[in-house]
Amino acid sequence: MTGQLEQKSKMLRAHSQELKQSNKDLEQFAFIASHDLQEPLRKVASFCTLLDQQYADRLDDQGRHYLHFAVDGATRMKYLIEDLLTFSKIGVNLQSLSSLDANIALEKAISNLSDSANKAGAVITKGYLPSVVARESELIQLFQNLIGNAIKYRTDRPPKIHVSAVADQEDWLFSVTDNGIGIEKQYQEQIFGVFKRLHHQNEFSGTGIGLAICKRIVDGLNGRIWVEANVDAGSTFYFTIPIQSPRHHGE
Ligand code: ADP
Repeated sequence: MTGQLEQKSKMLRAHSQELKQSNKDLEQFAFIASHDLQEPLRKVASFCTLLDQQYADRLDDQGRHYLHFAVDGATRMKYLIEDLLTFSKIGVNLQSLSSLDANIALEKAISNLSDSANKAGAVITKGYLPSVVARESELIQLFQNLIGNAIKYRTDRPPKIHVSAVADQEDWLFSVTDNGIGIEKQYQEQIFGVFKRLHHQNEFSGTGIGLAICKRIVDGLNGRIWVEANVDAGSTFYFTIPIQSPRHHGE
């Protein structure tokens, strides 16, 4: 019996090692691909801009229409590559974990979003927020992606967003609540996957990587992230961060 258990645990360890390796390979691939794609894309984008600036008056309506599509495609590709690069860098950046005041990270995130928040007439409030063990740039990015979405996926009403946290056993449980369009139950898990989006670009623009970035950040801190929402009744995104510092981070 003990022998069988030992063998099983050996197999599990080997399997987990394989998974770690394939994750690393994937990360490296995403990093190199997104990095190397930037250069040819820059070329496409800058020649499209030149075409537009210097030749647009020599094109007919249809030609200008095609050019517009090309510029649009290059711009979208730029955002995709930038987001993919951010995604692949999480957890491998050089900033180490430290104890941070979540209030300050939230303030920085809100300040980065000030343009879109002001345009939408968003009201952002906060309750109690603790200090947590995390990387500052990642905590800011986490708040920024969640609040940015709360602003973007709004209804006709001005967005109302509330951020707070409570201690829940061994974790800090954070919540970001909005009064936006909500999310159908059947999609509430898949939206955390890379490139998973529920809307067409014409409705709400985006790359579908924002929540995948959030999940990767929270996973790296040994936490969890999920959403509770109802269509047209707003959404609450929850994430946890262990109250104790994760001793073997990234293992
Ligand atoms: P993006 O916003 O670029 O599409 P995300 O990964 O940030 O990518 O979000 C994935 C999808 O989840 C979005 O396309 C949207 O359908 C849904 N979503 C995210 N946040 C919210 C929110 N606060 N309210 C309603 N839907 C949301």
